[in-house]
Amino acid sequence: MEKVAIIGMGTSGMAVLAGYEKVVDPSTVSIDCYDSSGSLGKGYPYRMDSDEVILNLKTRKISYNYEDNDDLARWLEENDLQEPVYTPRNVFGVYMKSRMEDTAKKIQANLMEEKIIRIDKAGNQWELGTESGKINKYDRVHLCCGELKQYDYYGLKGEENFIQEIFPLEEKLQGVQKGNICVIGTSLTGVDVATYLLSKNRGDHITMFSRSCMIPTVRVEPVEVSINVLTMECLKKHLEEYYGRIAFEEFDALFLEELESHGIDFEKFQEFHMCGGIEGLERNIDSPDDLAVVQALLPPMNGIFNKVWDCMPVTDRVRFREKWHPFLTHNRSPLPLESAEILIQAKKEHRLSMVKGVGGIKKNGKYKLIMADGKEHEIEYDYIINATGLDVRMREIEESNPLLDQLLEKRYASVCEYGGLTLVPGKMCVISPLYGTLENLHGHGVLAVGVQYRNNSTMMIQKTAHELIKSLYSSK
Ligand SMILES: Cc1cc2nc3c(=O)[nH]c(=O)nc-3n(C[C@H](O)[C@H](O)[C@H](O)COP(=O)(O)OP(=O)(O)OC[C@H]3O[C@@H](n4cnc5c(N)ncnc54)[C@H](O)[C@@H]3O)c2cc1C
Repeated sequence: MEKVAIIGMGTSGMAVLAGYEKVVDPSTVSIDCYDSSGSLGKGYPYRMDSDEVILNLKTRKISYNYEDNDDLARWLEENDLQEPVYTPRNVFGVYMKSRMEDTAKKIQANLMEEKIIRIDKAGNQWELGTESGKINKYDRVHLCCGELKQYDYYGLKGEENFIQEIFPLEEKLQGVQKGNICVIGTSLTGVDVATYLLSKNRGDHITMFSRSCMIPTVRVEPVEVSINVLTMECLKKHLEEYYGRIAFEEFDALFLEELESHGIDFEKFQEFHMCGGIEGLERNIDSPDDLAVVQALLPPMNGIFNKVWDCMPVTDRVRFREKWHPFLTHNRSPLPLESAEILIQAKKEHRLSMVKGVGGIKKNGKYKLIMADGKEHEIEYDYIINATGLDVRMREIEESNPLLDQLLEKRYASVCEYGGLTLVPGKMCVISPLYGTLENLHGHGVLAVGVQYRNNSTMMIQKTAHELIKSLYSSK
């Protein structure tokens, strides 16, 4: 019997467990799952928080099982809860936990409410030490513990009224009541913060800023589209012909042709829909036609982008990121219309503004933004809220995740230049600078972001984990 440990029971840990349940005969494995009590079955994004903090996908587009989109709606009904268009993230956490407990029973896995504090290689096995002093050996370990902090870009850690860690919003922002508030970041995390504060009527004025001031596009009514040009078959054929490689130019030409086949002119689309700020959101809502096509086209192409990323020379990846990353990130996880409307309304009421070209932040009593040209922005801020997203490059890992720090210190793993750990694509095995490929140590979820392009949505993480378990074990 193979002894398996899953470290971290957030989205990816649950996905691994569900993968085992789908693929493996319970009598052939013994699985121990580790996480702290508040996070087991929830992970970082889906812990207890205000109901205002919602998923970015509609209720019937996200679930515990990527193969069954209606499962969340079914669970809500089973529990006499109304089906909202967008489910609050904390409710999603309760649902995920309950489904995980069912899975654990079926596969006879042990759910352990404690963290792993030590990991050591012991021959071909892994020795794990827990908080309560238990030591267990495993034949295979799944690292699903990618809980990371937000990076402090402006070196404000420890300053009064600088809020570095923001989730759960209800708890971390409870002291933020009045005054001018500056939110660093305009991605979904920045929007979470701003919409939460606005809907709770907190603060006199909110300013959001980021380099581009780009907010993800607004999710519009979906349309049916099929992939016309850059299909998986087309990509595979290309890879067979070119020794498993695709160059940036080749991908670029094929993807532009794909967009054109749907009547999308990339340059015009970018200029119009991705102009940034609140104006961008208004344009998205007022002229949704081509946006609907792009939003419908990208999710079924996830696997294709992953494969392209995997097969592209490293230097070409830089160009890929420069040209396509903003387009893909801002359209792959769009903003719920409800959130966009809160921001648009707040702008009209002069409660919200956005600032471009910030070079730094200075504190002299209150906070001031220093613009790139050295001038001070006119507003003085009482609070600075860090909503920059997880630091996947792990710059402050010692503090944010001691177990990952240990893995790096012991040279069992290294940080991938695109974030997360360096892994073998597909097999998700950790590549150790000391031992080479570790066939029985796998990285998932946030830890796989650099290796697997666009891996970080819940459903994508589930699919990846299922495919890995299928490739590791024979079918039931
Ligand atoms: C704020 C936020 C909102 C998001 N919203 C959405 C959304 O609406 N829709 C969507 O599709 N995706 C969303 N995502 C993306 C997706 O949910 C995440 O990428 C996903 O949760 C990552 O899964 P993970 O397992 O890597 O990390 P997590 O889910 O955070 O799980 C990591 C777990 O590891 C545990 N852990 C850490 N160290 C240890 C240790 N030493 N021992 C044991 N356990 C440990 C932690 O306690 C935690 O539970 C969101 C992400 C974030 C950050």
